[in-house]
Amino acid sequence: MIPASFRYAAPRTVAEAVDLLASHADAKVLAGGHSLLPLMKLRLATPPVLVDINRIPGLDYIREDQQAAQLRVGALARHVDFERSELIRARYPLLWDTARGIGDPLVRNRGTLAGAVAHADPAADWPAALLAANASVVASSPRGDRTIPLTKLYVAILTTSLAEDELITEVRVPLPRPRSGGAYEKLERKVGDYAVIGVGVQIALDEADNVQQAGIGLCNAGSTSIKATPAEAFLVGKPLAPDNINQAAQLAMEASDPLEDDRGPIDYKQAMVAELTRRALRRALARAQGGAA
Ligand SMILES: Cc1cc2nc3c(=O)[nH]c(=O)nc-3n(C[C@H](O)[C@H](O)[C@H](O)COP(=O)(O)OP(=O)(O)OC[C@H]3O[C@@H](n4cnc5c(N)ncnc54)[C@H](O)[C@@H]3O)c2cc1C
Repeated sequence: MIPASFRYAAPRTVAEAVDLLASHADAKVLAGGHSLLPLMKLRLATPPVLVDINRIPGLDYIREDQQAAQLRVGALARHVDFERSELIRARYPLLWDTARGIGDPLVRNRGTLAGAVAHADPAADWPAALLAANASVVASSPRGDRTIPLTKLYVAILTTSLAEDELITEVRVPLPRPRSGGAYEKLERKVGDYAVIGVGVQIALDEADNVQQAGIGLCNAGSTSIKATPAEAFLVGKPLAPDNINQAAQLAMEASDPLEDDRGPIDYKQAMVAELTRRALRRALARAQGGAA
């Protein structure tokens, strides 16, 4: 299919980009185009103006900011940049797992983390991983910048709390605590497919090996990406012993609300939420203890 006609703008600065968004109703940001263009070709999206941010220099960074205690990710950091980053592989295994499981190399070469976050597809992997990691986004508009925790971003399927003239310029992830580990588990029908179910986990242990902090995010388990808050709260202060892992998996399952579709019936998907939560917790634990899981 061919998209409806649209006007195209290629700003060179963030200020220009947000001015274009503010001055054209229903304008859309174009980043990697791997979610937006398919929707346009199917005429499920017909934006009158595309604001292509790919020519804005300096937005493709992934760097740690020790002072702010955050990993800072620019709007044009692509999935492949995570896959190939030694920093991400060594210190953010949750993010490394996630990037490597997205689509195929063509998708990973173009798609951006910020675009996936903004697109708000509950079947996307990044939002679940970033909910587990307690991430936030910086949204820029002609009114200035504001920081939005991911827990406040997702409203409904393909719908965020971003205003029409807001551009996500940065995604922020807290620096890993000592003795922390993460993992992303994805069940897919075949390589390159969207998840049947995905589960992201990030944990930190105290000196006694009890869980100091836990994050659990669910992909394709409801009409938005889900943070399994009761499961996270249950784990804090406890060792990641098999009984506690099973109970957290049960609570994660209860937080899910999957739909039946061609990837499976509801009870199967719920069972997969529980199983993938168990697997991700075990791998996160091994990594937090210094293992190479
Ligand atoms: C064949 C195929 C397989 C795929 N498989 C997977 C998969 O397994 N897992 C997965 O998670 N994803 C998958 N995807 C989606 C892919 O990861 C996309 O790259 C991603 O969802 C969107 O990123 P993008 O940069 O391409 O965004 P775009 O398509 O450019 O934009 C998506 C939406 O976000 C908005 N937007 C983009 N950037 C910003 C910004 N900085 N600020 C505000 N709004 C913004 C756009 O206006 C648009 O509404 C797949 C896509 C394809 C085509």
